Amino acid sequence: MKTIQVRASRQYDVCIGKNILKDMGERIRSLFSQETRIAVVTDDTVNRLYGDALAQALDGIDAVKFVFPAGEDSKSIATYSALLEFLAQHQLTRTDAILAFGGGVVGDLAGFAAATYLRGIPFIQVPTTLLAAVDSSVGGKTAVDLAAGKNLCGAFWQPHLVLCDYTLLDTLSDEIFADGMAEVIKYGVMRDAALFQRLHQPVRPDPEDVIAACVAIKRDIVEEDERDCGVRALLNFGHTAAHGIELCSNYQISHGRAVAVGMVIASRGACKLGLCQGDVADRLCELLTQYQLPIRCDFSPRQLAQAALSDKKRAGDTITLILPEEMGLCVPYKISVSHLEDFFWAGMEEN
Ligand code: MG
Repeated sequence: MKTIQVRASRQYDVCIGKNILKDMGERIRSLFSQETRIAVVTDDTVNRLYGDALAQALDGIDAVKFVFPAGEDSKSIATYSALLEFLAQHQLTRTDAILAFGGGVVGDLAGFAAATYLRGIPFIQVPTTLLAAVDSSVGGKTAVDLAAGKNLCGAFWQPHLVLCDYTLLDTLSDEIFADGMAEVIKYGVMRDAALFQRLHQPVRPDPEDVIAACVAIKRDIVEEDERDCGVRALLNFGHTAAHGIELCSNYQISHGRAVAVGMVIASRGACKLGLCQGDVADRLCELLTQYQLPIRCDFSPRQLAQAALSDKKRAGDTITLILPEEMGLCVPYKISVSHLEDFFWAGMEEN
C-alpha cells in the first residue's frame, strides 16, 4: 500500500492499495469520534457490484445510504437537492460525514453536498474508476452541472480521506479503464517522462505505482495552487480541444477519449509553433493507440474552436493553452481567442 499526504487547506491521506476497503471502518474510527454517522452516496451500478462489500467494511458504524441512477445526467441540481433533503431527514450533523463511493459523478456530487450541507461537513472519497482514482477524487473540486454547462455550480472542498482500493477497478470495462488511461497519459506528458515510459508496460494487472505517481503529481500541483489560479491550469493539458469535442458530440464522446484527441491536437499544434519536437506528438499517438484511445476526430477546427470558446468560465480575449515543450514538461501558452481556430488547424493536420 502507498500513502500520499496532501497538505492543502486541509491535510489528508490518499491511501492506494489492494483490498484496503475492508479497513475503512478502522480508518473512520481513527479519524472521527465514536458517534460519527456516515452517509454513503453511491450510484446504482456501484451499489449493485460493491454495496455489500462496503456495508461489511462499515460494520459497527451507524450508516445510511443514498443511491441514485448512474450517469452524468444525475450530476444535477435535482439529485443534489434530493441528497440534501436526505441528509436532513436523517438528521446528519456537522460531526457526521459523507462517504462518496463511485466514479467522478458520485465524487463531484457528494463532495458538493458535503461542502454545503450545514455549511460544510467532512467527506471521504472512495473512487471506483481509474479516472476518479487519478484525478477527480484528489484536490477538492466538487460540482454539479447546470443546463447552461458542466460543473458550473460547485465549491472547493477537500476530503478528509481518499481511500483507493484498486481491486474495485477490476469490474470496469476495457473502455472505461481506457478513459482513465487518457488522464494517466496526460500526467506523463505534462510532468513525468519516466511515468510516460512506464506506461508502455500494461497498467491494468498492477496499477498501484501508476495511480500513486499520478496522485503525487496532482498533490504537488494542488498544494501549490489549490484554488486554480495558476499552476493548476497545467492539468488542463489537452482539455481545451477536449471540451470542444465533448460539446460537439453532445457528450457522446467520453471525457477520456476527448482528452486523448485534445492532447494530440495540443502536441501537434505546439510542434507547428516550434515549441517542441515532433516526436512528442508521435510518441503520444503511439501510446494512446496502444490503449485503444483515439488520436483524431471528425469535427472541423472551426466547430471545435467555437465550442471550446463557449466555456462559461472563460473570460477575456486570450485563452491559455497548455502545451508540451518536451516529453514530461508542459507550459502555459497564451494566444488570442481569434487564433484558436488556426491553432486547431495546425494541430489537426496529420503532418
Ligand atoms: Mg479531465
